[in-house]
Amino acid sequence: MATRRSRPSASSARPAVARPRAEGRRPRSTEARASGERDGLGRAAPAPAPPSAETPSTRLREEAGTAADWVPPRPSLPALRRQAAGCRACHLWRVGTRTVFGEGPRRAAVMFVGEQPGDQEDKAGHPFVGPSGRLLDAALQDAGIDRDEVYITNTVKHFKWERGEKGARRIHKKPNAGEITACVPWLHAELAVVQPRVVIALGATAAQALLGKAFKVTKERGKALRGTGVADVVIATVHPSSVLRAPDPESRARAEKEFKADLRVAAKHV
Ligand code: SF4
Repeated sequence: MATRRSRPSASSARPAVARPRAEGRRPRSTEARASGERDGLGRAAPAPAPPSAETPSTRLREEAGTAADWVPPRPSLPALRRQAAGCRACHLWRVGTRTVFGEGPRRAAVMFVGEQPGDQEDKAGHPFVGPSGRLLDAALQDAGIDRDEVYITNTVKHFKWERGEKGARRIHKKPNAGEITACVPWLHAELAVVQPRVVIALGATAAQALLGKAFKVTKERGKALRGTGVADVVIATVHPSSVLRAPDPESRARAEKEFKADLRVAAKHV
């Protein structure tokens, strides 16, 4: 478990600008856990839970910045995962169980970016393994994209939730602008290391984090956008959870069909 804070870095890695650097030496056991390399089921080992030790002074200092202060000086995916596991750049480290970092090959041509981990992702420590992940899997299969070949991550790495009325369920809560600003340096660093040719933004949070707050998924979905500075091609579509929330079977079927069509557009650029 990585609990130590890195030396503050003045600038986080930026998409399509920062270049990946050589990976440093890492303790083998830590790397195996944190690297996100696939096991026989295509999943990495669960990410470590966040550290619990704190003092009033560290609390004040640690929740006042952004993840840019935590990005290691020579980012590699294992180093980023290791460091992000102990991130306390915003208060969400207290809300979610653990940091759910991105997973996939270091040189993936395609990167999917969602909003934040959900309840099941928070428990498992892996992105897109719950109902939304299953729908994403179906759409990937439909588009002929191998999930093992793509990098999948979120804009915000901790699960933000509130207790439901009956108290048992953890209800997803949308991250606010401050939380997104705090966490997005991790996404920028992932983009800089992986350097995907195609980025698919799943939902408005991801699309606006990558393309600006004025970006409208409703207007631009399914279009191959070039010249964004993020990747050769960026395609925005809805988050699969919005498909699952469709009010009736007919609208659900239509939403799923449209979602799959957007991924087929992406497949043409892979
Ligand atoms: S949500 Fe992001 S910035 Fe906030 S503590 Fe978690 S990893 Fe750090």
